Amino acid sequence: MSGHKMKKRGGKKKGTARRDTRIATSGLDPHGNFGIINPPVYHASTVLFPTVKDLKKAVGDPFNNIYYGRFGTPTSAAFEEAAAEIEGGERAIATSSGLAAITCTLMAFLKSGDHLLMADTVYEPTRKFCDGILKGFGVETEYYDPLIGGGIADLMRDNTHAVFMESPGSLTFEVQDVPAIAAAARERGAVSILDNTWGTPLFFRPFEHGVDIAIEAATKYIAGHSDAMLGVIIMNEPHFKRLKTVTVALGNSAGPDDCYLGLRGLRTLAVRLARHQKTGLTLARWLQKRAEVARVLHPALPHDPGHELWKRDFTGSCGLFGVELKPVTGEKVTAMLDGFELFGMGFSWGGFESLALAVEPKYSRSATIWEGKGPLLRLHAGLEDAGDLLADLEAGLKRLA
Ligand SMILES: *Cc1c(COP(=O)(O)O)cnc(C)c1O
Repeated sequence: MSGHKMKKRGGKKKGTARRDTRIATSGLDPHGNFGIINPPVYHASTVLFPTVKDLKKAVGDPFNNIYYGRFGTPTSAAFEEAAAEIEGGERAIATSSGLAAITCTLMAFLKSGDHLLMADTVYEPTRKFCDGILKGFGVETEYYDPLIGGGIADLMRDNTHAVFMESPGSLTFEVQDVPAIAAAARERGAVSILDNTWGTPLFFRPFEHGVDIAIEAATKYIAGHSDAMLGVIIMNEPHFKRLKTVTVALGNSAGPDDCYLGLRGLRTLAVRLARHQKTGLTLARWLQKRAEVARVLHPALPHDPGHELWKRDFTGSCGLFGVELKPVTGEKVTAMLDGFELFGMGFSWGGFESLALAVEPKYSRSATIWEGKGPLLRLHAGLEDAGDLLADLEAGLKRLA
């Protein structure tokens, strides 16, 4: 074999294939691999070239050749091809975590003296990166009310080079008017970036809503089994080179086993999400009727402030939502959480297991005020039996009395 070109994989009738067919066929090349369906996991640093000519060719176009492990392997390329296709973009870049996908993207579009507009309800580590590292590099971050919609135009300055969204917001689930915000950014020549981890590639289509760059914490639903750290940045061709250059320059690369798990997870994403959605709604509706509960924060429920936008822009909901309890002591909430048998306590979400976590959004807001009076829980509906989960929740609510 000479010259190690990353080839486009096979796949039939790509042009007309519907979503679930794409999920089952993207990123595959069985007949380039002894007929074996899944791509092998290439563990690689050094890549050898047979001749000086071959080496020079790869040096000239390292992003489209198998060149050196950090730039990617056939395994990461297979995951990237599938992730791009399913999200609806032209290219994708795998990163070592969801947070790395965010930080590499921000570093790619911002430099000293620039202004960044950031949703106030963003994932807290994203906020920490802006307030620490980006600030130190001379980038000014201005947090905006996630419900600002097209009003974001009034905050745009000549040096605003990026507008970052996350919808629904972390912990509090505010739905953003993504098309209006993305359009305002485009009008002023700023890049629009969306953390689409809650929406997933299936329930929110970033590129159909005018977003330039989509980010998925593939650690969550894409890998889906709480056993991998992986992120992916999805974009159209014009943004690829810049993003890939910066990701490589920052030394970021995704591990081969995690890329494999991401690709494997993608195959069952639709069937898992259907169940996460159903169980999540079952739990949310049940909680809504409970006397111990002040409100349920779930955009797919009709009472939710974000419901109209969710209905307009999303085609489904995942298993993650919030529950505000009526005011009760911290000790009682601790007793509720400590006593759960099925709901685990821990960070991240999107795996097969249900989770419950007490969260405090007021410490990670600056442009808005979190008005909640009682304790806020974030629940993740896993793939366990919904009746068993309800029984666990019911026993937990009794511990609040
Ligand atoms: C978890 C999460 C991330 C970060 O993903 P990691 O893979 O844990 O780094 C980013 N954004 C959102 C919305 C998340 O929930």
